[in-house]
This record gives sequence, structure tokens and C-alpha cells, in this order.
Amino acid sequence: MEHTLDAEEIAAGVGRLAAAIREKHLGKPIALVGIRSRGDEVAERVLTILSEDDDWELSFGVLDISLYRDDFEHLHANPSLQESDIAFTVEGAHIILVDDVLFTGRTIRAALDALSDYGRPAKVELAVLIDRGHREMPLQPDYVGISLDTRRLDHVLVSLEGADGKDEVRIVSN
Ligand code: 5GP
Ligand code: MG
Repeated sequence: MEHTLDAEEIAAGVGRLAAAIREKHLGKPIALVGIRSRGDEVAERVLTILSEDDDWELSFGVLDISLYRDDFEHLHANPSLQESDIAFTVEGAHIILVDDVLFTGRTIRAALDALSDYGRPAKVELAVLIDRGHREMPLQPDYVGISLDTRRLDHVLVSLEGADGKDEVRIVSN
């Protein structure tokens, strides 16, 4: 069985994230930090929308947490391991972590660990394009673009223009 979201639905999800973040934080400095891979692309799209407002101090960063995952020994070797890029001051910052898919929550737990190497933020929130459920950690998103009902063993295949050449989400059930 297969269920597909198209580019328009993905854009609507990104728009919902941006609108909710804007409503809560307009005018107050925030930093969007995208988690590789594809979370950074979602974060860039949200940033582009938020940047339409002048006089709003917006920072941007990217985290690569491949080495922090508590189950990373189970993941496939990652030949394209890239670095984190956080050029703003994390100490005291209001940070919104951004990821493409939230599943067990282990990646976010690891991202919080990685962030703490840079300093102590005043607050950290979580924005995800897709919440597919099945959490294994006590972590919930503050902003959700699209909620998907999935089974634990489904695959949610996310393609984004920058990384994959097109915007599409497919849920593949076995
Ligand atoms: P978690 O750590 O919450 O289990 O998984 C979240 C991270 O793994 C995200 O960065 C996301 O990119 C990736 N991920 C987890 N499950 C899926 C999935 O079903 N589809 C896709 N495309 N990525 C997933
Ligand atoms: Mg990802």
C-alpha cells in the first residue's frame, strides 16, 4: 500500500511551520537549526518565509548528529559524514531545532546533546515537517507541518528539491 504527498502539500506543511513560528516569535531573535539531512533544507525554507519580515533577527545553523545517535552502531556506515555549522552564539539563544521527520525521537535527543557542546541555550523548541508518531523518548514537537498516521514498520520516503530534485513524500507499507 502506498500513500503520497505532493509538492503542494509539502509547501503547505512548511507554510504552517513558518506561520506558527512567526505568530509566536515575530520580532524576537530566534535561531533555526536544521538537522542533516533534509532538516537543514526544511529549516532553510522556513527561514526564507520568515525573512520576508524586516527587522527580525534570525540566525541559522546546521547540526550533524550522526555520531551522537545512541543507536548509531546500528545505522549503516555514513560515507558522507558532514560537519555541524553553528556560527551564532548558542549561549542564551532561543533555538528552534528543525527536522524533516520525527519518529522515535532519538535523533532529537542526540541533537540536544550536540547543541550542549556549543553552550547553554535559553530555550530550545522543536519544529518538524512530518510527525509520523511512534515516539520512544519523552519528546514532543512544538510545531508540526504534517501529521501522518503510520505503522511502526512503514517507510516514509521524503524527497526534497535540493537533496533529491523533487518534492514528494511517500509512505510505503510492507
Ligand atoms: P528518530 O530519531 O525520531 O527515530 O528519526 C528522526 C530522524 O531520522 C530524522 O532526522 C529523519 O530524517 C530520520 N527518519 C526517521 N524515520 C524516518 C522515516 O520514516 N523516513 C524518513 N525519510 N526519515 C526518517
Ligand atoms: Mg533527516
